[in-house]
Amino acid sequence: MQKDVVAQVYPWQQTVWDTLTGRFPKLGHGLLFYGKKGCGKEAFAQYFLAWVLCANRHANNVACGECGSCLWLKSDTHPNYVHISTDEENKKQNAKIKIEKIRDLLPFVQQTVDGWRVIVIEPAEALNMSSANALLKTLEEPGDRVVIILLADHYLKLPATIRSRLQHFALDRISEAQAGEYLSQHLPELNQTQKQLLLNLSNQMPLQAMQLAQAEWLNKRQEFLNDWQKLVTQKNMPMAIATKWNKALSFSDFAQMFEYLLSDLICVKLNQQVKNPDLDLIGLSEQYTLEFLFTIYSDLQQSKQFIEQNVQSNLVLDQLCIKLMNI
Ligand SMILES: [Zn+2]
Repeated sequence: MQKDVVAQVYPWQQTVWDTLTGRFPKLGHGLLFYGKKGCGKEAFAQYFLAWVLCANRHANNVACGECGSCLWLKSDTHPNYVHISTDEENKKQNAKIKIEKIRDLLPFVQQTVDGWRVIVIEPAEALNMSSANALLKTLEEPGDRVVIILLADHYLKLPATIRSRLQHFALDRISEAQAGEYLSQHLPELNQTQKQLLLNLSNQMPLQAMQLAQAEWLNKRQEFLNDWQKLVTQKNMPMAIATKWNKALSFSDFAQMFEYLLSDLICVKLNQQVKNPDLDLIGLSEQYTLEFLFTIYSDLQQSKQFIEQNVQSNLVLDQLCIKLMNI
């Protein structure tokens, strides 16, 4: 599991926790933990697997932290736990889980050992057709005391054949009040507008909101809008503005900020509620037709692909800025 994940059950996951631990071991061997980015499913999975593997599991409802199993987990050397993901060096948007990794699971699930074995696969969306088919075989004939946990942001992206063999648990059922309360507790310095902004941008997912609070681009949105406005009204200097933003932010940060602002301009056109309530977007939205905004949106998606293909970010930004100017 990622190193920065602290195993825990968040308040909005308590019901699922009670259900899981209450039914255990009468659970399917394939479990799907799903929920929007920032709902804390990774931490939940880590907490659950520690509990399943713990030698003192029956004592109470938490892993003891002291038995051999708990110590193995801490030192990341547990022989009965396998974590499968995309390759570390290949964390691109569309990176896939290699079929070899799934095939290698078979001896692990078929061997006879004492105690439970746990496999975590994340993100489950990264299973391609062949690795998904290989996993199906594993799900059909697992050994005793094997739990396979899949983590997904969007479970509808998984093949139906896989989905139908898993027990589903939603970990992002959180009320607006709960999300707001969590954010107030952990970032008490935020005012109401800032809090609302972060919750809007994170789809009400508190952990994602806390990450966004640290994002470098958050305080640069107005400045970028001003530059954007300049491009439209003065119709010159697109390269200078592109160069400036190429230096100011990494491309992925820039793209994230730009996408939020662009979506909001589209919302203004459609009379829908915007995510950035602290910005004045009306002037800029009046400069564009809805159709043109959608064209920019698809250009942005293409730009992200160019970056993944190692096109230089300054060239990509030049093109985008020229596009913004030419209305
Ligand atoms: Zn233990």
